[in-house]
Amino acid sequence: MSDQQIYRSLIDWLKQTWWGMPEADELMPLMMATYTPEEAYLLTGMPFSGRNLEELAEMKQMDPVELRHQLDALAKKGIVFRSVTGDTVRYSLNDSYFVFLRSAFWAGRTDERSKAIARLVNQYYYHGFYDQYDLTHLKGLRVLPIQETIEHTHQILPYEEVVKVLDSLDYFAVSTCPCRHRKNIDPDSPNCEYPIEVCLHFGRLGRYTVENGLGHKITRQEAHEILRQCAEAGLVHGVSNWQEEVDTICNCCRCCCMWFEAFYKLKHSMSLSPSNYLVRTNPEVCVGCGLCVKRCAMGAIQLEDFPGAKNRISRVMVKNKNGVVELKNKTGKVSVLNPDLCIGCGVCAYKCPTESLVLECRQVIAEPPKDVREYGRLVAADFTAKPVQLREGNIKK
Ligand code: SF4
Ligand code: SF4
Ligand code: SF4
Repeated sequence: MSDQQIYRSLIDWLKQTWWGMPEADELMPLMMATYTPEEAYLLTGMPFSGRNLEELAEMKQMDPVELRHQLDALAKKGIVFRSVTGDTVRYSLNDSYFVFLRSAFWAGRTDERSKAIARLVNQYYYHGFYDQYDLTHLKGLRVLPIQETIEHTHQILPYEEVVKVLDSLDYFAVSTCPCRHRKNIDPDSPNCEYPIEVCLHFGRLGRYTVENGLGHKITRQEAHEILRQCAEAGLVHGVSNWQEEVDTICNCCRCCCMWFEAFYKLKHSMSLSPSNYLVRTNPEVCVGCGLCVKRCAMGAIQLEDFPGAKNRISRVMVKNKNGVVELKNKTGKVSVLNPDLCIGCGVCAYKCPTESLVLECRQVIAEPPKDVREYGRLVAADFTAKPVQLREGNIKK
């Protein structure tokens, strides 16, 4: 069998998962950059759910010691999932979404292989690879609002309360943000200046990243601190879009994040799934400084002229200083929200100097799926209901 045929067999095998691999000029070069021919041959037919070494050795007709050696090396590349329960180690093949958009970049490697993969993924993303997500009403991440910006904290639903979400988890790890790293190591993409060591993983996924050199272990307190720094920087928290046993909290920027790029460049109808909150503005207090406009990743907030606002003084309590300052509205403009675009992240409200912005509950609450299995069923139903119409080759950077 030629190398091309070996890679083609692996592509066909990977296509059997929930995530498609549309044909594009980058597909074959990407496969060749990611997997050696020997790895592609080994992985074709490997199950996507966990199997122990003996089962896999029998399936592949290989010596278990040699197979373990190879699978452990592939786990360190993010290509194979490895989980340990008691004395049992299980392996499964990671799907193409997991490898190309997540695990290949968690370690923050900058070697030539990683750079080649990054460049090809960045191109493939624009040429159909991500368009499948345009078909779903549920995105993989849901906005987790910045807690301090919610007006009535007694109304917070447990799956939207950062403290409760982190308290429900037992293992914490941090990795390099794959979207930003993928852009930063690709000479054809602009560099991102937002914090990068901010991709949080929990439970089984967190252990996988730490045990395989794809992340490092942190404490719950450190996870809180990372979220605080991300809120300061203006990043949007996005949590796994189900309620129980979430495994990821991302901190997304509008420039590199696959969800925001999907909205802005691929013209998908949504970025992340919105939270159950919406910003409420206060034109009587706003001083028109425009900070909220700069911080909103969705372009959901604008400044507009408001009668009587020009030169109006707002008296504002300064946090931690026990003092009141007077701020003047120099422009005569105030913030105005486009509710259709607001995803309820609170990034604008977090730094508003006059506290004119708060998050309030939406009228209709959207309950996320209970767990990852329900999420998978709902997404699969969307894929089945709407045939994939990929926009191959028509998206320009
Ligand atoms: S989805 Fe957002 S936070 Fe997650 S990896 Fe991409 S940019 Fe980073
Ligand atoms: S809402 Fe706050 S941040 Fe936005 S313009 Fe008004 S004062 Fe500035
Ligand atoms: S206006 Fe909405 S989407 Fe924009 S930063 Fe504020 S809460 Fe987030």
